[in-house]
Amino acid sequence: MTAYDPNNIFAKILRGELPSYKVYEDDKAFAFLDIMPRAPGHTLVLPKAPARNILDVPTGDLAHVATIAQKVAKAQMNVFGADGVTVQQFNESAGGQVVFHLHVHVIPRKSGVAMKPPASEKEKPDVLAEHAKKLAAALS
Ligand code: 5GP
Repeated sequence: MTAYDPNNIFAKILRGELPSYKVYEDDKAFAFLDIMPRAPGHTLVLPKAPARNILDVPTGDLAHVATIAQKVAKAQMNVFGADGVTVQQFNESAGGQVVFHLHVHVIPRKSGVAMKPPASEKEKPDVLAEHAKKLAAALS
């Protein structure tokens, strides 16, 4: 497998070199909004430690990311009045992965509303800021 690239976009976000709409942070995990959400509130949960994907992540970091993804999903149900939550995680290009720092997609869903295609439309900054504020408050 290809080695972890410390210059991937999410590594830069984790180091604070690029901005993000943060919703949650602890010593081992970081969560922020996807800037091209497949549905309002689409969140990405990452381990802080370098990991390319599920194939190289230490099991403890993977378990912690799953725990935080669950917290985010529960908060999204309230904050976005969701009827359900879709959780996705892609590995290597063949598996649909585009950014090579492990991340779990947590996407609030409404009954009968299809998700937008991946990376189809950038959300407006004020909308992302508002969603991040509400979700962060529910997770604090
Ligand atoms: P993957 O296919 O690797 O699981 O998904 C990568 C995700 O990252 C996509 O959903 C895409 O919209 C999102 N994304 C790409 N660039 C950025 C960025 O600069 N900031 C944020 N917050 N999300 C990004």
